[in-house]
Amino acid sequence: MDTPNTADIVIIGGGVMGASAAYHLAKRGMKNIVLLEKEEFFGTGATGRCAGGVRYQFSTEINVKLSLESLPMIERFREEIGQDVNYRKCGYLLIATYEKDATTFKNNVELQNRLGVPTQFLSGEEVRARLPLMKLEDAMAGTFNPKDGIVDPNSVVAGYISAAQKRGVKAVTQVEVTGICIKGDQVEAVETAQGQIQTHMVLNTAGPWAGRIGQMAGVEIPIVPVRRQMFTTNPLKEIPEDFPFVIDFAQSLYFHREGEGLLIGMSNQNEKPGFDQNVDEEFEFANLEAAIERMPLLERASRASHWAGLYEVTPDAHPIFGGSNLKGFTICAGFSGHGFMHGPVAGKLMSEYVLDGTFSTLDVSMLDLARFEEGRLIKEYNVV
Ligand SMILES: Cc1cc2nc3c(=O)[nH]c(=O)nc-3n(C[C@H](O)[C@H](O)[C@H](O)COP(=O)(O)OP(=O)(O)OC[C@H]3O[C@@H](n4cnc5c(N)ncnc54)[C@H](O)[C@@H]3O)c2cc1C
Repeated sequence: MDTPNTADIVIIGGGVMGASAAYHLAKRGMKNIVLLEKEEFFGTGATGRCAGGVRYQFSTEINVKLSLESLPMIERFREEIGQDVNYRKCGYLLIATYEKDATTFKNNVELQNRLGVPTQFLSGEEVRARLPLMKLEDAMAGTFNPKDGIVDPNSVVAGYISAAQKRGVKAVTQVEVTGICIKGDQVEAVETAQGQIQTHMVLNTAGPWAGRIGQMAGVEIPIVPVRRQMFTTNPLKEIPEDFPFVIDFAQSLYFHREGEGLLIGMSNQNEKPGFDQNVDEEFEFANLEAAIERMPLLERASRASHWAGLYEVTPDAHPIFGGSNLKGFTICAGFSGHGFMHGPVAGKLMSEYVLDGTFSTLDVSMLDLARFEEGRLIKEYNVV
């Protein structure tokens, strides 16, 4: 498809946020929507490299509420969008090995239960009983919610893109945005390698690259890219089909069933911000050692695949929704490593903001860009 030269809105970035926003804007009847993706395929940024985990277990009310809106949208995805996304409710089991984490877990479960999420608090003994394949002598407590699980990210993006295109959205790949033209205090056009698109409205859904798009518009957006990586194993017959998404919280070490093997990842707390998406082999070895320590049968496992991607990290690990001091420049980015699951509702919220000037499904106005300057940060504890 040729790149159009005018648009009522240009959405920059075809990951889950851009795809969901394009679909929801078109569903509300907006015309002349253009979605630009720099890569050859949609969803090959953070979204296509993510672990696909979806959970209700967060430590802040707003994140739990985002999940309460978004995960049912994923459950209804096939019905609404016509695409199967393979939502596997295996539950997330978070493990605390320090007293302070166990105490915070207890408070988190209280918050989640108050909001209607049936998370259970587990003793160390109960954690060990549920995970007989793992070495967890130091587990002090755990939390488990059976409705958490895993979803296929590529199917979600593909579903939204094709539903958006059916509603007239011009979604194009291999078009990189290189600049934003401004007249007075208003967006005037978007520059691409293939030419200019006249528009008064831009939605920045560039994920880890959102700060760069901000720079093009002279808007400071505090989102930094931080590399995260994972690997998968070949089939392991010992892993039961209902093996949960297990997180050893203190080590940010996680395991979930992937095909007939496991997907294993760990966050490198010393990783410096940057755009490098190559696997750090040395850290992968450290990850493997930590994983074997927790699950000795992995000594016999072989690696099937590995890859790295970028978290899009904000100072308070919460996303940015809404406008900026530049008229027509809006943002939906900065989900800090847990945004795939919130993509469905995030796109819907941005369609409300763009068309009505307000968020009606859920009030996320506190997650505006101005909070960083004004010191209104809301810290999320459950970041992996
Ligand atoms: C290793 C890893 C594991 C993760 N695990 C989970 C998980 O289990 N659960 C979960 O919910 N989240 C997880 N996440 C986080 C999740 O992937 C992100 O929060 C989410 O995908 C962000 O979506 P996005 O659309 O904002 O960004 P992206 O998917 O990165 O999309 C942004 C797009 O913008 C495009 N772009 C950038 N610059 C330009 C430009 N100049 N012109 C045109 N296009 C441009 C990029 O190519 C990209 O496709 C994980 C992330 C990583 C890296």
